Amino acid sequence: MIVLGLESSCDETAAALVDGNRTILAERIAGQEEAHRPYGGVVPEIAARAHVDRLAPLVEAVMAEAGLGFGDLDAVAATAGPGLIGGVMVGLVTGKALALASGKPLVAVNHLEGHALSARLADPTLEFPYLLLLTSGGHCQLLGVDGVGRYRRLATTIDDAAGEAFDKVAKILGLGFPGGPAVERAAREGNPKAVPLPRPLVGSGDSNFSFAGLKSAVLRAAGGSVPDLAASFQQAVVDCLVDRTRLAMDRMPEATRLVVAGGVAANGAIRAALQRLGDERGIGFSAPPLALCTDNAAMIAWAGLERLRAGYTDALDVPARARWPLDPAAEPARGAGV
Ligand code: ATP
Ligand code: MG
Ligand code: FE
Repeated sequence: MIVLGLESSCDETAAALVDGNRTILAERIAGQEEAHRPYGGVVPEIAARAHVDRLAPLVEAVMAEAGLGFGDLDAVAATAGPGLIGGVMVGLVTGKALALASGKPLVAVNHLEGHALSARLADPTLEFPYLLLLTSGGHCQLLGVDGVGRYRRLATTIDDAAGEAFDKVAKILGLGFPGGPAVERAAREGNPKAVPLPRPLVGSGDSNFSFAGLKSAVLRAAGGSVPDLAASFQQAVVDCLVDRTRLAMDRMPEATRLVVAGGVAANGAIRAALQRLGDERGIGFSAPPLALCTDNAAMIAWAGLERLRAGYTDALDVPARARWPLDPAAEPARGAGV
């Protein structure tokens, strides 16, 4: 089984081919950091235009590298949301056109399901059900992953996502864009105990996350050593994530593994702390390799492949969605899904 995956929901344009043996046959990713850097964040209109320029050539490149024609595919998978709607539309329409022209099924993938299943692409021993900490630029959730398409939201952030906090703190500290990796680099030279910062909601029986107060505390403390501030902030995030995840583990005793995914899962301190938690609880820990944590198309191809195997394909009129919760019971749809 071979699936082509397309990703364009934020500022990464990506195409990848993945097979049923978890082999990434070919993969291309074009970031847009340079285009957005002057604005200190992703500009939706610029991102959408860049996807238009880049996606089709990336598809051509992965097909050529793998030596495949569209007739060799079993399906075309494209991110159909959630994300910046202009970008999502570019990838989804490209996927529809390729599916239509090749006569292959289309799989409309929820970007968050791509993150949620990415650990299974890298780790063949990872079985359902598992407890997932999905931590990215737009989301911070604990999910019970019971199977493909079966997600129970156990917790979410009541304000900012962790990745958003990393990005805002990077801006405050003058570390530039994108923020997460820059804060992590600076933190390596700093003392995590140097600056006292709050751990919002830690110790509370409410299982949710909160990062807005932490970000404001960094703003108030700004002016001192940047590495110390970065290290102290990162440690506070680690403490919040670990505390909240520990509570969720109590609430999901059936979980066979602790898993972290999403862009923030690329952070070494966060991975190490969660590894210790998984070991301490005796259920072990799994995290995708760094390149599968931040946005990529291999995870979309893989989620498409898992959905295809489970019997899910989509009609050519499937909509692009700016909002698309993984657990609709926890987050009722708003309006027309935009
Ligand atoms: P979502 O997946 O919620 O739609 P997104 O796709 O924009 O959002 P991802 O690409 O999954 O987000 O993750 C990007 C986020 O991860 C950014 O906020 C970035 O700062 C953060 N990030 C990336 N690398 C690191 C790191 N090493 N440490 C901390 N944060 C990181
Ligand atoms: Mg990005
Ligand atoms: Fe993402």
